[in-house]
Amino acid sequence: MLETEILKRGDDSGNGTLIKYTSATGAVIKAIGVPLSWKSTLGPTWCYVIEGDDLTLVDPGCYGSLSYLEQGLEALGRSLTDVARIVVSHGHMDHDGSCPPVIRKSGAELWAHEMYGFMLQADRGDVERGWRREVQGFEAFEHSETMTRAMEHRELNHDLVLDHPVTDNLQAGGLTFYHTPGHSPDELCIKFDQVLFSGDHILPLITPHPSVAMSYNSFQAKLPSAYRGENEIYGLKALLTSLKRMAELDGNLTVLPAHRAFFRGQFNPIGVGRATEILEHHRNRCHELTDVMKSGPKELVAITREYFSDRELEEQNFFLAFTEVMAHIELMQEAGDISTQGNVASGNAWSNGLGPNVLISWDGTDNFSGLIDGL
Ligand SMILES: [Zn+2]
Repeated sequence: MLETEILKRGDDSGNGTLIKYTSATGAVIKAIGVPLSWKSTLGPTWCYVIEGDDLTLVDPGCYGSLSYLEQGLEALGRSLTDVARIVVSHGHMDHDGSCPPVIRKSGAELWAHEMYGFMLQADRGDVERGWRREVQGFEAFEHSETMTRAMEHRELNHDLVLDHPVTDNLQAGGLTFYHTPGHSPDELCIKFDQVLFSGDHILPLITPHPSVAMSYNSFQAKLPSAYRGENEIYGLKALLTSLKRMAELDGNLTVLPAHRAFFRGQFNPIGVGRATEILEHHRNRCHELTDVMKSGPKELVAITREYFSDRELEEQNFFLAFTEVMAHIELMQEAGDISTQGNVASGNAWSNGLGPNVLISWDGTDNFSGLIDGL
């Protein structure tokens, strides 16, 4: 367990808050609650500061929120120019958004998983636009404030140079890196002292959004050769495999997540056991989806609407709900629990055999549960 001290209070969800964590061995980590740069109920990205001979920053925070990081560092008696090393948990803009200006000001080294370097160069949006366009609500999602910012962010990060690519199990500079893909193909968990920085891989209160396995088909041919063999980086199976791995880490680690570490005036302390809770949440969601499917074959859109029927899904959020459901259906498909039937009237199936016009039927089995146990 870590000792906690609030150095400065920010708003209710933690934006602008500064926290000091001290481990039993006396290691000190400071956290800056850097807000997202659009309206959101998520709360801040927690950017962690390790002060040794020089200063390491785990995630510089959201694109468009540099001034908050700067103010946070100043309140800690440091400045942007002191940053010697940036470690990026994964390439989503609420985490690596401020890399370009921080590196410009400080000349900091950039550390991230080697897949991060690949993704910087890949035209992510373009590669996947084909199937995404066919999803109901994608247009609203694409034109949302968040996605508009994501496009700008991608442009700006295109020129970043990953001068310290990291691979799984690397130990360097007092840190141990674990590749934990699933939410994002480049996700890292990073061990320091008795702490595991978990990025978005392990979060308290909420669960990270799984990527879809189908994305692997879009990128496979272009991936570095080590990742071209089979899909271990995209989709729910990758996420659950990574969760299991982190749950098994020993050493009584305290997890410091990138979101919700402190929220509405409360600390939400977690250990690696939280990874098992998230895994069980997904197993349970598969069970709940069988409930939706038992009344007969349905298209993915209908399954999503029915599953989330108690929630008001705005058009732009539908896309996220849809891909979340698809990630689960893909796992059940791999386990042999569902069959699909193309709708002859229109369109082709996507590369995962699913698609807006494909009817999905549940075969009445729950082999997915055994598949999860066997990961
Ligand atoms: Zn995030």
